Parts: sequence; C-alpha cells; structure tokens
Amino acid sequence: MSRTVGCIGGGQLGRMLALAAAPLGVRFRFLDPSLDACAGDVGELLVGPYDDPGLLDRLADGADAVTYEFENVQVEAARRVGAAPDARALERGQDRLVEKELFRSLGIPTARYGSLEDTGLPALVKSRRFGYDGKGQRIAETLVVLGDDELAEEIVPFDRELSIVAARGRGGETVFYPLAENEHRGGILAVSRAPAPDARQGEAERIATKLLDALGYVGVLAVELFEVAGTLLANEFAPRVHNTGHWTIDGAVTSQFENHVRAVLGLPLGSTEALGESVMLNLVGHAPPVERLLAVPGAHVHLYGKAPRPGRKLGHVTLVDADEARIADVAALASSAWQS
Ligand code: AMP
Repeated sequence: MSRTVGCIGGGQLGRMLALAAAPLGVRFRFLDPSLDACAGDVGELLVGPYDDPGLLDRLADGADAVTYEFENVQVEAARRVGAAPDARALERGQDRLVEKELFRSLGIPTARYGSLEDTGLPALVKSRRFGYDGKGQRIAETLVVLGDDELAEEIVPFDRELSIVAARGRGGETVFYPLAENEHRGGILAVSRAPAPDARQGEAERIATKLLDALGYVGVLAVELFEVAGTLLANEFAPRVHNTGHWTIDGAVTSQFENHVRAVLGLPLGSTEALGESVMLNLVGHAPPVERLLAVPGAHVHLYGKAPRPGRKLGHVTLVDADEARIADVAALASSAWQS
C-alpha cells in the first residue's frame, strides 16, 4: 500500500526526506511559497503561503501523516494539519527565551542568558525569534539596552560543538545517533564528523530524552550542544531533521531522514549504528563542479538543486572511513565554494 506524507516546507530537508521515503513506497507532498522549491523535483508541490488554510487542507488531504522541515512554521498551521512533531515543539523552540526556559525547567544546563547584567560582558546578543545560521547575532562589549525581541547569552569558551540527533516513534520507542562534532564558519555549519571521539553520549541522550518527553515528541529531534570543560551545555534544539545529521545518509545503517519518515508513519525505527567514521562537508554559496567532487574516490555527493547565492546551503559531501588526503581534497573544493 502506498502512503503519503505532507510536509510544510519544500527545501533540501524535505527533498532528502522524500528521497529516503521513496524506497519505502512513501510519497511526499510539499507546501512552499516558492515555485522552484527544490523538494518539488522529487515530490508533489503545492505553491503558496505556509499558513494558507486551503492549501494546508490540501496538504493534509489523504495524507497518512503531515510533518514540517523548518522550525519557523506557524504554530497554528502545524495544529491545523495535526503535524508530527507536535506543534508544542515549535511553540517552545521558536523563541530562544522560551527555549532556554524549557531547558532550565528540565534541568538541562545552558549558557547564562537573560540581560547583559545576567551574562556579564562581552556577551552575544541574539534575536529571540527567526534567527538561524548565526543570523541576527552580535557581540555586545558594553551595557546596552536590549530590545524586547533580544536575548543576551554568555559567550561560551567551548572546547567543541557537538549535536545529538534522536528519533522517537509513535509508540515512544527512541533511538539515538552517535554524537557528531561540528565546526561552524560565520555561524553556518561547515563540517560534521561522526561518531565524535570521546563524546559524552549518555549525557547527550539524557538531555534529548528530557526534551522528547516534555514535548510529547514524534519524529527526529536534534540538540546542539557545547562541550566545555568536560560538561555539555545545550545551545538549541531543532524539531526536525538536522544538517549535523546529514552524514547518516551514507554513514549510518538508517538515515535520519528515513527514521523521521518511519517515526511519523508509526513504522518501526531503524538502526542508528554508524558504518564507519563519517565526515560531512557543506557546500555553501556556490557548488564546485560535480565532476571534481565525483573524482574523489568514495565521495558521496548530494546537490540540492538550488540556485547559488552567498551563504546558501547548496549541497554536501560525505566521506566514510576516508583517509585524510581525500578529506582534504573535498575540503579544498568545498571551501572554494564558501569563498566565492
Ligand atoms: P545559533 O544560531 O545559536 O545556532 O548559533 C550559531 C553558532 O554561533 C553556534 O553554532 C556557535 O558556533 C556560535 N554560538 C552561538 N551561541 C554561542 C554562545 N553562547 N557562545 C559561543 N558561541 C556561540
């Protein structure tokens, strides 16, 4: 029997969800305001505003589940279609202050936050809503008055950035991927390596479990973490498949995308076991010639079919158990993309 999943948003995450769903006999239908939304290459595309009631009803019509692929979906839109993950995850994650207070109420450690008096100086000032990839962030060196939509955060002298991706099924069964170690450039993810060596996997799983429980969660959840002096602080969570989990397509038994599809459809979850040591490199701004990427033995190339634009994620490349020379070859190609 063929199943259909509706998805609010038709970007690369939706595209990779649909690609993972196809072998399971699952089709995707997307809602996106852009006529050339890249998920439209691999599924049906409804074009219009994310919160258009008529289009949301068409998205949900006959669908076995409805999900979303970005966290700024209007809570009402997610409620209307009975989305998984539950709209609660959007409500708590869309505002950085509410998110931090959720962490605090669950006993999940975070950086100090609040006003600049709370954090000390210098501090990072972030917009509470609609910030992503480091957008809407600045450093405050002196005590300035924050806007209502701003939040100050202590600058964490982290040793490294990690993330945990978890999947929870409709029956509550939960699986966790090994922690990934992430490097950002200008606030945008550049490289993930997984499994991260010597990582506090159990501690990260306990953090993710608290969130999954509190949010009545179904689907894939990612939590971004700072490792500092041997402890983990939560930075933020994303109620969706996550860029730091892209390595799982080629580097794990079951990808995060497939597990999200399985979870929202109430199907059994798949093994999250790593197949080796993966390195995932993002292609940002401009994709290098595909021939050059493919010429690197073992390079798994994923291009999203998006038009180049500075700072835009256009694709990624994953290498599994590759030697450092090959990783360096891909890194050189990938970084030429960032600079142009
Ligand atoms: P965010 O938009 O919160 O995910 O931040 C993007 C990136 O900025 C993070 O992945 C970190 O590299 C950096 N960053 C964010 N918050 C902090 C913080 N409180 N201290 C140090 N670095 C941070």
